[in-house]
Amino acid sequence: MKNPIESIIADIQKGLARAAMDYANVGLNLYHSSKKLGPMKIQLTIGNLAISVELMIKTYLFKQDPTLIYKNLPLELQIALKVPGKMPTKFPWKVHETELKGSGHKTIELTDCINCFAILFPDEKQQLGAHLRFLARARNVAVHSVLPAFQQYELDRSIYVMLSMHEVLTKNDGKMFHYFKLDQNDKNKAFLKTFDELRINRVHKVIEGAKKKAKTLGTTRAPLVVTDWNFMATECPICGNDALLVGDTQHEVIELDPEGFGEHDLAFAAESFECESCGLKLEDTKELELAGIETTLDRSAELDRWFGEQAYEPSWEDYEDMSEDEDDGQNVTHPQQ
Ligand SMILES: [Zn+2]
Repeated sequence: MKNPIESIIADIQKGLARAAMDYANVGLNLYHSSKKLGPMKIQLTIGNLAISVELMIKTYLFKQDPTLIYKNLPLELQIALKVPGKMPTKFPWKVHETELKGSGHKTIELTDCINCFAILFPDEKQQLGAHLRFLARARNVAVHSVLPAFQQYELDRSIYVMLSMHEVLTKNDGKMFHYFKLDQNDKNKAFLKTFDELRINRVHKVIEGAKKKAKTLGTTRAPLVVTDWNFMATECPICGNDALLVGDTQHEVIELDPEGFGEHDLAFAAESFECESCGLKLEDTKELELAGIETTLDRSAELDRWFGEQAYEPSWEDYEDMSEDEDDGQNVTHPQQ
């Protein structure tokens, strides 16, 4: 028999899964209900899809470790959730049940969920990264704004990213969402097929537009200087100017010898592309591939800069700074001996 804390954990796990699927289904049913949705329904649909993606990732994280979805959880609850089987019967679990199930403890937001997803599923994040960033921005607009100017493409990519997230997580764990399922399976399959076909047209169109604009450009622009590891400059295939790739720089230790020295690899996993000169804009890795842009680029020539910026060794002065922070800037008088 489960102890009370294990039952609470199981209830929350199930509640998250159900809520994730409920929000997804509201979005799906609105989307499939008519050919063209009005602005308010588009806003409502995108809002529901964003919340469902957030809850899907939370369901996954909670299953790995329930404490991952909470912010600033008290130590006693961290212990209770991490090692429920070790908790004494005296633990006042009833007091904490409502707070854990309700809104008593703050949970992480969609952007935090996306960051966690990026760490655990780097390859899938590369394909979905730009769509997920859009969804995080759209969630705030959909929830707080009255009439945002969402376009059909933005509605489509929200459905695409939600269905893709569901696929990634259920592939990883078939029992992730218990017996809660997505509605409209046949229509979803047809949607994904059309989304891929429309992607080809969309890329073709933006390339034609960029080619037209490139003809009107004068001299070549100065090269871009990029120091942030989430961006990389690359030559635009249309106008030849420097353009920007958005993504993640990934460091991999290929082989390590007993002394700790080894071969390192540094690569850039591109998620989207934007050229300010000719206006070429590509939103995911499939679009980059269609435009003939590499999605994984070698950055090993920059390993020295990478190590210089990443390998930071704290000095004693840092520890002194930290203890001042803990004192919250107040002077502490130590008793004289
Ligand atoms: Zn260009």
